[in-house]
Amino acid sequence: HRLALQAVAQGPGATRDGHRVQILANIGTVDDAQRAAKADVEGSGLFRTEFLFLERTSAPTVEEQTATYTAVFEAFAGRKVVVRTLDAGADKPLAFADLGAEDNPALGVRGLRLQRERDDLLTDQLTALARAREATGAEVWVMAPMVATAEEAAWFAARCRDAGLPTAGTMVEVPAAAIRSGHLLAACDFASIGTNDLSQYLFAADRMNGALAHLLSGWQPALWELIVATVRGAEGKPVGICGEVGGDPLLALVAAGAGVSSLSMAVGKVGSVKVSLARHDLDTCRAMLDAVLASTGPEQARAAVVDLLDAEV
Ligand code: PEP
Ligand code: MG
Repeated sequence: HRLALQAVAQGPGATRDGHRVQILANIGTVDDAQRAAKADVEGSGLFRTEFLFLERTSAPTVEEQTATYTAVFEAFAGRKVVVRTLDAGADKPLAFADLGAEDNPALGVRGLRLQRERDDLLTDQLTALARAREATGAEVWVMAPMVATAEEAAWFAARCRDAGLPTAGTMVEVPAAAIRSGHLLAACDFASIGTNDLSQYLFAADRMNGALAHLLSGWQPALWELIVATVRGAEGKPVGICGEVGGDPLLALVAAGAGVSSLSMAVGKVGSVKVSLARHDLDTCRAMLDAVLASTGPEQARAAVVDLLDAEV
């Protein structure tokens, strides 16, 4: 039995009855990429590119960025890499793109909003990504952080395609984006739910404030309402999860039940998530999602899912 589970941890992610869920790694540096590529993942579902930009006095050049992206794509050798364009602002200020103090930086000019103010930064980043993709032949998907409206998503997708990057997507981190995912996806190829920020904005609860951890729990039924709405609106286009929720073995079952097509997580979580999926059928995962949605709060939701685990094993 143990050997069978080890074998399962080595194949692609799937439920016991064979429903595939792509298992991907979150990365933030070339080192991360090389480490993650050694794991049995189908690629990276979130390449955070901020490390290239933070703690420096001038923006990285196109050449410098091209070299880094090339190294990351080479590490994954043909596997998929979902690149998130610069997510600065809020808690991650840039010395060379200071738009002035904000009273509420988490609600300010961050993510895609900053990219639109500083189009030169986005142009250089997309140019470098297109060159690295060209040089390596990698499967490169590009997505924007902090998208709130269909107009923003369409603007970003057009910028990607103009730069020679054919697969463009939107993160879903703002409740408005989740509710209107179909409209956002009209111009995009895929969506990726960032549950960390989505929870923060859904519950009006600062994600850095430990006193609010219960509101930010991945078991909150309201969070799952938005995940379900995102998948439904996507009408079959891929919807992944790349926030903390993606790396929880029990929540991975709920995500499979919700029809999420990929989960991206810290590489250390990959084995336990795959084993968890391989132990349960899709119908059980769907029952788990229903149980979460029917719950009054996170503790009850988790307990209901654990009951269903016991029922099946
Ligand atoms: C998220 O918000 O869930 C996410 C994946 O992005 P980050 O944690 O980098 O804000
Ligand atoms: Mg985020």
